[in-house]
Amino acid sequence: MNNLGLNFTDLTGLSFSELKDAVVRLNLPYFRAKQIWSWIWRHGLTDFQDMSNISKPIRSLLTKRFIISRPSISRRLKSKDGTIKWLLRLSDGQEVETVYIPEKDRGTICVSSQVGCTLTCSFCHTGTQRLVRNLTVAEICGQILLAMDEIGDWPAGKLNRRLTNIVLMGMGEPLFNYDNVAKAMKIVMSGEGIAISKRRITLSTSGVIPELIRCGEELGVNLAISLHAVNDTLRNQLVPINKKYNLKALVDTVRNYPNLSNSRRVTWEYVMLDGVNDSQEDAKALVKMISGIPSKINLIPFNPWPGSPYKTSRSNNINRFAAIVLKAGYASPIRTPRGDDILAACGQLRSDSVKKRARERESKYEGKSP
Ligand code: SAH
Ligand code: SF4
Repeated sequence: MNNLGLNFTDLTGLSFSELKDAVVRLNLPYFRAKQIWSWIWRHGLTDFQDMSNISKPIRSLLTKRFIISRPSISRRLKSKDGTIKWLLRLSDGQEVETVYIPEKDRGTICVSSQVGCTLTCSFCHTGTQRLVRNLTVAEICGQILLAMDEIGDWPAGKLNRRLTNIVLMGMGEPLFNYDNVAKAMKIVMSGEGIAISKRRITLSTSGVIPELIRCGEELGVNLAISLHAVNDTLRNQLVPINKKYNLKALVDTVRNYPNLSNSRRVTWEYVMLDGVNDSQEDAKALVKMISGIPSKINLIPFNPWPGSPYKTSRSNNINRFAAIVLKAGYASPIRTPRGDDILAACGQLRSDSVKKRARERESKYEGKSP
């Protein structure tokens, strides 16, 4: 609440047309909305007092009604190879992970869409976390804004920008938070703001078919499918949402995803689990299953976490698998681990932090007991 007894509106959660309405409600002209939008999304400002083309009285008015938020940083881990992983704290104390991965000709941010995940894929650490909520639009955009602050990438859209690609591959199932994810992506696509095109955004999903269809029709971003198994029995175990949306339905839906072509392929993510899904037969069944769909296959060595029931495939099995896929004509990069020295399995940083705080609470309590 502010001193007028009104709630502050966080502008990082508003589309341009919502910002325009909010500005017009303050009896300010339309062009002020354009200026504010540019300061927030092109220049990364968080303080209205820095908006130099807006008069002081109007800046004060804006300060009384609006905020431009950022998540706060709980932990920041920087790898030798430049990868940065942040554990971010949200306004209710919940935490999510965000990662920035620099490469020679691009820089990718891996964004979370939920605190935890309601799905329980058996190899995924995030899926073991019970407390789950959807991230707001401001919290999804906030991860990108904060990363740009941290890597010094303002103004957006400059030559040689450092953040060029977005992958929705962090904590959570983005299609279970479709409305907020879609609105956030439309905001960061805006040509007057961060201006990252849909061709540079990839959404990863375990296969929530109704929203997958909406995503193709309304958002048109690139698609990555967490496949991990080529028969329903195994996929039911690894990716339990398969019991609701089985492999045939999933592959048929992907086949109809709009505008697929050789220059715009679907990525099939396949986590390599020792003795579980890494045989030559699996590789052959995989290429047969996706035949005719413009595809890339991303083989991901399993990233173990404390108590995980699987082991990473042996490297000769991964190579054998990759060779079969390659022979069938599909690019099959084996995801080389980045930020090896800092990147625990996705979700582990948050779990460790939750445990640490619980221990701190306990020891405080013990200290007070008679
Ligand atoms: N919920 C979405 C996006 C987040 S998971 C999805 O499932 O696609 C992002 C990717 O990381 C998925 O392909 C997921 O299967 C993979 N993944 C999860 N845990 C992993 C682990 N321990 N090792 C390797 N990859 C993992
Ligand atoms: Fe959720 Fe994706 Fe992890 Fe499955 S792999 S539990 S859908 S975050």
